[in-house]
Amino acid sequence: MLFRSHIAFALVSYLTLDFFIKMPFWIPGFILLGAIFVDIDSLNSKISRIFWPLSWILKHRGCLHSLTFCVLLSLLLGLLNLWAGFGFFIGYLSHLILDCFTRAGVKLFWPLGFRIRGFVKSGSWTEDIIFVGFLLLIIVMVFQKLF
Ligand SMILES: [Zn+2]
Repeated sequence: MLFRSHIAFALVSYLTLDFFIKMPFWIPGFILLGAIFVDIDSLNSKISRIFWPLSWILKHRGCLHSLTFCVLLSLLLGLLNLWAGFGFFIGYLSHLILDCFTRAGVKLFWPLGFRIRGFVKSGSWTEDIIFVGFLLLIIVMVFQKLF
């Protein structure tokens, strides 16, 4: 999935959670960080422009695109600050969920080798429709929160 879709779905995830849980105001920052971080293993991602040596070492949609690393890295961050770890986990998880719907799929339960795949081709019109759906959802949720 594209960067913008991950950002949009991370925001939908935050707004949904915000309905049920009272969170610190800075949580969206860590949710977005978690959602963006996962593609550090892709040479084409925005975050790899900064951390390009990591993108060379790691295989795209390999171990980083797994619940194993999602939980592990979130727990590490959670040791520093529980809310930061929680926010990072939500963003990371939102990224993995979205990538599960792509044709390339992800090894969600790495080190187990099987991939969970979907029907969406990254950057296709199907993804555009999903993205617009997320945008509409964000608008509705923000209006609901404000009024
Ligand atoms: Zn990804």
